[in-house]
Amino acid sequence: MRPKILYPTFEPVTSLKGIGPRIAQGLENLSGARLLDLCWHLPTGLIDRRYAPNVADAEVGRVATLTVTIDKHIKPSNKRLPYKILTYDNTGTLVLVFFHAHIDYLLKALPEGSIRVVSGTCERFSQEIQMTHPDRIGTLAEIESLKTIEPVYPLSAGVSLKVLGKAITGALAHVPELDEWLDPKYLEQNHWKSWHEALIDAHKPVSLDDLEPTAPARRRLAYDELLANQLALSLMRLHMNKTAGRGIRGNKSLQEKVLSALPFDLTPSQRKSGEEISDDMASDTRMLRLLQGDVGSGKTIVALLAILCAVEAGTQGVLMAPTEILARQHLATIEPLAKAAGINVQLLTGRDKGKNRQAILQNLKNGSTQLAVGTHALFQDDVVFKDLGMAVIDEQHRFGVHQRLSLGAKGQSVNVLVMTATPIPRTLMLSAYGDMDVSRLSEKPAGREPIITIKLSLSKLDEAIKSVKRKIDKGARAYWVCPLIEESDVLDVAAAEERYHTLANVFGDEVGLVHGRMKGIDKDRIMASFATGEIKVLVATTVIEVGVDVPEASIMVIEHAERFGLAQLHQLRGRVGRGTEESYCLLLYQTPLGETARKRIDILRETDDGFVIAEKDLELRGAGEMLGTRQSGLPNFRLADLNEHADILATARNDAKLILNKDPNLVSERGKALRTLLYLFERDIAVRYLRSG
Ligand code: ADP
Ligand code: MG
Repeated sequence: MRPKILYPTFEPVTSLKGIGPRIAQGLENLSGARLLDLCWHLPTGLIDRRYAPNVADAEVGRVATLTVTIDKHIKPSNKRLPYKILTYDNTGTLVLVFFHAHIDYLLKALPEGSIRVVSGTCERFSQEIQMTHPDRIGTLAEIESLKTIEPVYPLSAGVSLKVLGKAITGALAHVPELDEWLDPKYLEQNHWKSWHEALIDAHKPVSLDDLEPTAPARRRLAYDELLANQLALSLMRLHMNKTAGRGIRGNKSLQEKVLSALPFDLTPSQRKSGEEISDDMASDTRMLRLLQGDVGSGKTIVALLAILCAVEAGTQGVLMAPTEILARQHLATIEPLAKAAGINVQLLTGRDKGKNRQAILQNLKNGSTQLAVGTHALFQDDVVFKDLGMAVIDEQHRFGVHQRLSLGAKGQSVNVLVMTATPIPRTLMLSAYGDMDVSRLSEKPAGREPIITIKLSLSKLDEAIKSVKRKIDKGARAYWVCPLIEESDVLDVAAAEERYHTLANVFGDEVGLVHGRMKGIDKDRIMASFATGEIKVLVATTVIEVGVDVPEASIMVIEHAERFGLAQLHQLRGRVGRGTEESYCLLLYQTPLGETARKRIDILRETDDGFVIAEKDLELRGAGEMLGTRQSGLPNFRLADLNEHADILATARNDAKLILNKDPNLVSERGKALRTLLYLFERDIAVRYLRSG
């Protein structure tokens, strides 16, 4: 349970005076719906109102706070002209200009003959010095409160700076002071203030330096967030390690049967990864390992061998995929091999219901199924294993940390192997997993020809269709990927359907269509006929993006390639070039091609190396965006910036380790403060791993 002291911070923004549902909606779109979210919404600029020159000296275009005597109000002769107020000081005349003026208000706020302080940007028109709509108006007595520095925040529709500034000030006033969770020495060494002070400072920049990620207040807040992240990961890890590894040792009997049934030899890095994995399984700490390998590098077989090792030792294994199509694909790959080894494989997906599902669950529970392949359905509470020894999660970045862990919780000390085709930079990796062992597949299986990548304007669609047709007539198979239309799978589907109909005119019933809105069974049917070659051209939305393996497919057409990210294009292209045929990737783009899109397409034409592509992608996009945070399962930091704060991420990791070494249940004074930190950054789940205290 969240500690009471944090309650106010988690109140909705509507609890603030003057914030109704309409503004609340605007704030929610901007930062989030709670006071906490407003606190995390840091300024990106500032307005310095301390500049207080005479009228004659006021610099044009600069915000100034001027003290003037109000001379005369001048009503416009015509409603479309502005209302003007003449004012002066010893040095000159300043004209205040108002459009759509509220005259009553102006008469009251700026009465003729009075002295007033106005703050805003000065302009010069012919010889006249003007200020249009002063930002602030006050009396001489209020001058000091006007000559301030104001933070400027990122805004969105429906929320003005004034409203946002007020809301943030209101939110900050509700934020409690909290017991210090940082090591006092570390605090001192960095010249950091307390969390509360740092937060206030971060919202009160006095110079441009204060807006930089390197500003002490911002670094402190970023560190807090990173520490919460690392502490949570370490707690989860500790929890997993509590039941120490069980030293699973296979006798290689099943592995050997499968290896001899394979039509190929393992690549050196497949062999090496396999050894790393079996050593890890045999050790007495539990395995948590990432298997990283570019598309087509052959991760599936490595996963199968790892599972076989667990089965040889008398336990069970699961292989989990992010989509139904992929789960079935894995099953299709694995089934004949499992048969060769003489073990029972079972598929479990969301589509299995009722009696059928019960029967599957029964077999998992009594152990007669040694290997389960499936989707999210495997996470469900009623899925129970007799003795799960090994869990493999494919294309992991689609799954959240929670899910990875809940699968690990399905057995006693389950070894976990996660597989990804996306090379993750070290900082991202650390923030997502904490420490994790890594095995890499660094080369592709021998005999693969490079894929010939061609770009072609969409205006030459007919030409593209003709050249695909020529290849198809010679027996090739092609994917035809239709564009992803942001936020609208309905439009996606419409585009794919339209293309399907155009192509059907050329290819007749040799063309098929799959998209995300189709029923699972129908998808399978189409995928299966593409795999057997009944269908030769498969029109698809990006449902085929991840992991599908049809070695006979040698042509990949990507329509509107400019709309895809680099990593995604690379993944898609990786669907071909898996067999012995010469393979092509045809990138159809809409002109005019933007700068970044052109770069992406050119990079793709230049290289086939996933690591190089990931690096370029990082350059083009920046770390936070790299994997598409929404579906990435990677933490989405509010205050920390992994590019800017990589150094303190490493410190936070060490700090977290040290803390948990000394105080594994966070019961000391500092430990208690750290619990609050975890709640503050909504790592509630991690707190559950602590013994109460
Ligand atoms: P990914 O790493 O993208 O998941 P897969 O495991 O789907 O790759 O393997 C891609 C293709 O390469 C499959 O058709 C698989 O049978 C084949 N393959 C895997 N390992 C080898 C190897 N050592 N030699 C030849 N082909 C291999
Ligand atoms: Mg795969």
